[in-house]
Amino acid sequence: MQPPIARETVLVVAGLQAVLDSLRDGVLLVGPRGTVTGANRAAEQIFGIPVPQLIGRDCLALMVDQRSRGFSEYLSRTLLPADPSAPSATVELVGRRADGGLVPIEVTSGRVAHGETTFSLTVRDIAERKARERELRRGANRDRLTGVATRGHVEQLAETELFRVSRYGRPLSLLLFDVDHFKKVNDTHGHPAGDQVLREVARRCQILVRASDLIGRWGGEEFLVLTPETALDGGSTLGERLRRAVADTPVILDAGERVHVTISVGIAEYTAADADLASLLRRADMALYRAKANGRNRVEVATSPAPLQPAA
Ligand code: GH3
Ligand code: MG
Ligand code: MG
Repeated sequence: MQPPIARETVLVVAGLQAVLDSLRDGVLLVGPRGTVTGANRAAEQIFGIPVPQLIGRDCLALMVDQRSRGFSEYLSRTLLPADPSAPSATVELVGRRADGGLVPIEVTSGRVAHGETTFSLTVRDIAERKARERELRRGANRDRLTGVATRGHVEQLAETELFRVSRYGRPLSLLLFDVDHFKKVNDTHGHPAGDQVLREVARRCQILVRASDLIGRWGGEEFLVLTPETALDGGSTLGERLRRAVADTPVILDAGERVHVTISVGIAEYTAADADLASLLRRADMALYRAKANGRNRVEVATSPAPLQPAA
């Protein structure tokens, strides 16, 4: 027969549960194999599962298998280490709610060793933090004047994109465009009006590119568009659309004035002979230079680079 539980013990346990329930973070108490032996109210809210139903579950099953194979083993090793001297760990995960919803969580493990409980897992809902981080990242990658991607962001993404393209032999084109005689816009209407023109040019072009394309501000009044899955003819069609979107409709300034601007566009398609973004850019820039030299408000296409010289 089990010895009767002392009244004091019951009070202490009830008191501890009250303490746990007062915490903002979720707490799961688990056994050596990860079976939930206790939980608090915050855990109930994070997972959308009442405490009595949490008990007896496999705690790892409450976390989404993000890394597929070997994920459970990894989690088990990290959060529920067999070695009692292993340090506590914090892992960013995704929690699986009873209603099928997903919630980003940060889980910190601790060793408890009390009865059938071996670990405590503190579960923090980090949905808000993640949203804030995403917002910050997006903000940092956006050009402040025009809202398109910054040069740095384009460079960063181009690297991954070029790797993919060269590896899988997919087409990709790069468009470089520059506002014609933009200095005159500033001189005639003032710098703030010039800013407004740039914003409007970027807005029109942004609307025309696909969601999978990337448009960025390369410098003052120069923009770049990376178009995956697009060969030279598709790139030219887009270039012509951009050119017309700018040339066909004047920009109306806040003051009511109408400003006619045009752009010149240079296009290059990635080939195996392009070692990197710089090489592709150089060819697009040469095409752009030709568009300027041939009268501006036009689209020019880059010639293929010289073929790679076979080894002697
Ligand atoms: P081209 O047809 O040869 O391109 O002539 P352009 O006058 O556009 O040539 P240039 O590149 O020499 O002049 C670009 C001008 O753009 C000069 C610079 O003051 C202006 N500019 C660069 N960034 C900004 C900006 O953010 N806002 C405004 N308003 N002007 C800018
Ligand atoms: Mg210009
Ligand atoms: Mg320029």
